[in-house]
Amino acid sequence: MKEKTIFEKIIDREIPADILYEDQKHIVILDINPFEKGHILVIPKKNYETILDMSEEDFLDLQKIVLKFAKKVHSVFGGGLNVNQNNYKEANQEVPHVHFHIFPRTENKKLYHSENHTGKYTSEEEKKEIIENLKI
Ligand code: 5GP
Repeated sequence: MKEKTIFEKIIDREIPADILYEDQKHIVILDINPFEKGHILVIPKKNYETILDMSEEDFLDLQKIVLKFAKKVHSVFGGGLNVNQNNYKEANQEVPHVHFHIFPRTENKKLYHSENHTGKYTSEEEKKEIIENLKI
């Protein structure tokens, strides 16, 4: 059997967490290593590894909870707000179980450094090809 993710263990109460909200399909917890105070994780209980594995219905249900908590975090902390979600190792996903990060931005700390934005297109042709490939 596949080993449980850390979030499944939290959902099953095998390890502790600070739980803010729970319903049949979701759990919302404090991140153990917050970027800022108030950093929370919105997690579907079903163990989808990435959002690409999710059904549209489950994704939309999850977004409703994300929006509610985004508004709540902003109402408590003010300032800026990030909603982030990582898929696969290349995108820094550490826990292979879908989760949305929500955290306030009240300090002048950079999350994305402009020097890391190195994905420049080498030509107009290359850019046009990528645009064509990305159309749905
Ligand atoms: P990722 O890089 O996968 O998008 O983020 C995983 C997040 O889960 C990290 O921000 C990390 O601090 C958090 N995390 C990892 N293990 C635990 C845990 O045992 N409990 C809680 N509450 N958060 C965790």
